Amino acid sequence: MIIKKTPAEIDRIAAAGTILVRTMNLLAGKIRPGVTTGELDAAAEKFIRSQGAEPAFKGYRGFPGSICTSPNSMIVHGIPGGYRLARGDILSVDIGVIHEGWVADAARTFAIGPITPIARKLLTVTEEALFAGVGQCRPGNRLGDVSHTVQEHVEADGLSIVRTLVGHGIGRDMHEDPQIPNYGHPGTGVPLEEGMVLAVEPMVTAGRHGVRVGDDHWAIYSQDGSLSAHFEFTVAITAEGPRVLTPWHEAGGGRAAA
Ligand code: MG
Repeated sequence: MIIKKTPAEIDRIAAAGTILVRTMNLLAGKIRPGVTTGELDAAAEKFIRSQGAEPAFKGYRGFPGSICTSPNSMIVHGIPGGYRLARGDILSVDIGVIHEGWVADAARTFAIGPITPIARKLLTVTEEALFAGVGQCRPGNRLGDVSHTVQEHVEADGLSIVRTLVGHGIGRDMHEDPQIPNYGHPGTGVPLEEGMVLAVEPMVTAGRHGVRVGDDHWAIYSQDGSLSAHFEFTVAITAEGPRVLTPWHEAGGGRAAA
């Protein structure tokens, strides 16, 4: 069942989103060669709690971290720890924030110093695919329009959409209906209506789309070891069109810093 939100409820998710964006920008200033993912996790948790909010991932189904940090061929769900960032790495950072009972969820992939042309292309195309998909989040469209737009953008550049992981509705719960595949057919799926709030999150590899689960039973990697990127917004469908509630691309954000 899809739970639609009132404008006042959307504002409350946006408040969680504001804390999330500040957290992402804080991490953007810390991400550099030599920093461990555990240090990023600690900084994120401290900041989120200082805002009167909670890290949504901490303890979720037993997840030990406050954020997910997924380097290189790791797609999502990386447990922060001793991994030390190196020049040429890419790092996907996924953050969930609960504020006054409402959840926001967003991710972006950062470049650590200069990266290869294929890595740069992967980041650019995945971010563009997110923006294109979010542009479809308006009343009168269907969910398949979002999915198809993301898929088309990614595959046109010769990259692969991960198929076994999907976006989701979000609100009082981090994962609500509907599931949002990043592939599909236009004009199909549930009609999009004002008040729906969606976490749209293309996950893309530079190789093939198969995945494998890591030894810790959390981390998910590209099966072929190719680089992977993950960009995500929480977005509300309003009468005026999409409203991004986690705008990490605005002040202090922008494209992944080189
Ligand atoms: Mg999500």
